[in-house]
Amino acid sequence: MSVVTRFAPSPTGFLHIGSARTALFNYLYARHFGGTFLLRIEDTDRARSTQEAIDAILDGMKWLGLEWDGEPIFQFARAARHAEVAKALMDSGKAYACSCTPEELDEMRAKAKAAGLPPKYDGRCRVNGAAPGKPFVVRLKAPQEGRTTIEDHVQGEVGVDNAQLDDLVLLRSDGTPTYMLSVVVDDHDMNVTHIIRGDDHLTNTFRQAQIYAGMGWALPDVAHIPLIHGPDGAKMSKRHGALGVDAYRDMGLLPEALCNYLSRLGWSHGDDEIFSRAQAISWFDLTSVGRAPARFDMAKLEHLNAHYLRGLENARLVEMITPDLEKILGSALTDLHKARLERGMQGLKERARTLTDLAQSALFYVHPVPLVFEPKARDLLSGEAMPHLRMVIAALHEVTTWDEATLEGMTRALAENTHHKLGTFAQPLRAALTGRAVSPSLFEVMEILGKDETLERLENVIYRNEDS
Ligand code: GLU
Repeated sequence: MSVVTRFAPSPTGFLHIGSARTALFNYLYARHFGGTFLLRIEDTDRARSTQEAIDAILDGMKWLGLEWDGEPIFQFARAARHAEVAKALMDSGKAYACSCTPEELDEMRAKAKAAGLPPKYDGRCRVNGAAPGKPFVVRLKAPQEGRTTIEDHVQGEVGVDNAQLDDLVLLRSDGTPTYMLSVVVDDHDMNVTHIIRGDDHLTNTFRQAQIYAGMGWALPDVAHIPLIHGPDGAKMSKRHGALGVDAYRDMGLLPEALCNYLSRLGWSHGDDEIFSRAQAISWFDLTSVGRAPARFDMAKLEHLNAHYLRGLENARLVEMITPDLEKILGSALTDLHKARLERGMQGLKERARTLTDLAQSALFYVHPVPLVFEPKARDLLSGEAMPHLRMVIAALHEVTTWDEATLEGMTRALAENTHHKLGTFAQPLRAALTGRAVSPSLFEVMEILGKDETLERLENVIYRNEDS
């Protein structure tokens, strides 16, 4: 039997990071077995479902590289089929009409509460039948004795006493199906073999199992994965960075890093921390999904991201940061700029954690004079540094072979001859050329900027210093 998994988000907000992990696990499981990974948009809550949220889910999935098979299935469009199953259950005596009013139900709940019992439907229409001519809902005849047990791939054997189960509503009085019914019918009709979802759905599974039983359908395999927690152990919230996938993209994270990180949140393959998509597919299984909630750690994610950044080709990285740089500059990058960035990229990418970092640290290569100086760089360009800069400028004018080695040799010789440390010249030079106190190798930067640009930047600093 071929494996079929599905990701079934409700389009009521962004593609949450926890949902992205659920999608990823379903994707990896299906691909591992050469099976099918389906996407079902659970848009039955008409008031809260939006096109914007649907787009965010589709975009997020595409960005993460979680290609689903076939077209997305929209749950709301299948309402007639869901109602048909409710009718079939009524016809076979597995479900019944219930005409109890909201007031009657409230009263029932209050009574149960007062008696210290779970707030359950008391089954009066199950016994007496619905009042004729009145609006009615359709309820499932849930078993009242015995126990429902499920073999969960992550949680192990889990069970509930059937006495606790409610006669859940399948169809509302306006004929629309409930979420519980829709999920079961869709999973059945889509031939889903494995349901992998958050463990907040575990209690739903016991109730859904009764619908499967009523229809004589086999319950798919289930795996309920623990939710993601923040580093402090509390359930992940916005405060911890429980954001939409798009927010991580905007922070300058790479999809390959995010997927690698998310796959390790709750699942493990020995001590492997960094691995490719192909490896994740070949290794993924449900037996290695843990029962303890995983903790989200932004620093770890950024560390992984730095690794993936370093692995990308320089030209590709230039392309990726170009929009950011153009936004900051307010103008398009020229070919000269792009060539500079590409030559400088090796040195830049070794220090960056995110694409946003990378764009910031690359900015000096393309920024017009005067640069923007960070405070630490400004400190390095005090009046005391000016005589040193002037000496360097004089020496640089004489340089005919403008390459890293020559420039370094010249600066070292200057330091030696004047009995100064190299830093006396190198630090203000770096600050004047990059606007920062930390940068890729200074002499590489000078080589890439070229003689004219280097001298222009240095002379501008002297000029501004005299002016102030
Ligand atoms: N639509 C549900 C959610 O977004 C998931 C339902 C399921 O996976 O069965 O939480």
